[in-house]
Amino acid sequence: MVRTSKISSKSKRPSQRVAVVGAGVAGLSCAQTLSSSGVDVEVFDKSRGPSGRMSTRRVPALSVQADHGAQYFTAKSKSFQSQTELWLQQGIIAAWDVVIHRIDKQGHRTAAPRPPVNPRYVGSPRMSAVGRHLSAGLELRTSVRITAVEEDVSGGWHLIDEDGQGHGPFDSVMVAVPAPQAEPLLATRPKLASLAAAAAMEPCQTLMMLFDEPLSVSWDAATVSGSALAWVARDSSKPGRPPGNVWVAQSSAEHAQEFLEESSEESQRRLLAAFQEVTRTTATPTWSTAHRWRFARPAVEPANEGLITGLDKGLGVCGDWLCGPRVEAAWLSGRALAERLLAIS
Ligand code: FAD
Repeated sequence: MVRTSKISSKSKRPSQRVAVVGAGVAGLSCAQTLSSSGVDVEVFDKSRGPSGRMSTRRVPALSVQADHGAQYFTAKSKSFQSQTELWLQQGIIAAWDVVIHRIDKQGHRTAAPRPPVNPRYVGSPRMSAVGRHLSAGLELRTSVRITAVEEDVSGGWHLIDEDGQGHGPFDSVMVAVPAPQAEPLLATRPKLASLAAAAAMEPCQTLMMLFDEPLSVSWDAATVSGSALAWVARDSSKPGRPPGNVWVAQSSAEHAQEFLEESSEESQRRLLAAFQEVTRTTATPTWSTAHRWRFARPAVEPANEGLITGLDKGLGVCGDWLCGPRVEAAWLSGRALAERLLAIS
């Protein structure tokens, strides 16, 4: 189903028409920056809603929600600090005052020093609140998977979706999807396509769990070594969450790679066993589900000093794989791409 939402209309006739493929934080920050400069932007995403890897799984019937992608984010740059200040004032995000523990290969647990160097933020009341907020006012087409980006003889751009339907023409197309998904969409600009081809991404498996009773675990979040898991957190400990006992466990990249093609049931069984070992509990959840992120994070920290976007005659690219596996990096990349496009328009 294709759903189009247009929350506000612009009074001024736009001079340019730009398509953004991908409604994660990079695509949305790019689209918002363009839109606020009067550009007519249309955003396409294959999922049912915006947010990408900043999403939240919700099961309204059980009043359950769990952030199954990004767990929290920080703001180190001045520009993202200004943005987070604004979001805090607007109630879109909240600070998560959590002590993150480290559990080593021997199972020894140590608490990280407090306060953290950089405050940790989460979307409020859920991580996807950020994507919802960023997509307000944009023309967003969800459940549309783009399979090709084509240029016509007059320099106009067209998107082709998986049903063979064309969208356009656009003056420019900004591709804001993980590198392996970006590569085929960049085929008309080999330099951009090879940039994406060189950026390997790692998978991750996430287990979301609801328990009837609070677990007898004295901590709320931990990074883990020497286990199938790399991260465990009490999702319900984040600010603004509904009452309940929801936990999220995320696998290491190595574990996800090894068991990438297993069924959801097998993933749940394997990750639950690791969760019980890490938390030293035997409780079984009353509800659980697993999610596979095929392209969770760039495999190596990108070394593109200063190059956090790509733009080549009407076709642009942005995303965390160009500048670092973090929400902040994706936001900065999207905004920088929009500014580059505006500068030459
Ligand atoms: P995405 O969020 O992946 O957005 C891309 C969008 O493009 C998606 O919505 C997708 O549906 C869409 N798309 C893809 N292909 C197509 C297509 N062909 N047609 C149409 N749409 C398409 N970062 C932190 O800062 N802190 C954390 O704690 C943290 N933890 C993480 C944990 C996990 C499990 C994962 C997966 C990521 C984590 N990250 C974390 C990283 C952070 O989530 C990402 O860096 C950031 O969200 C990337 O944003 P993006 O816009 O570049 O990409």
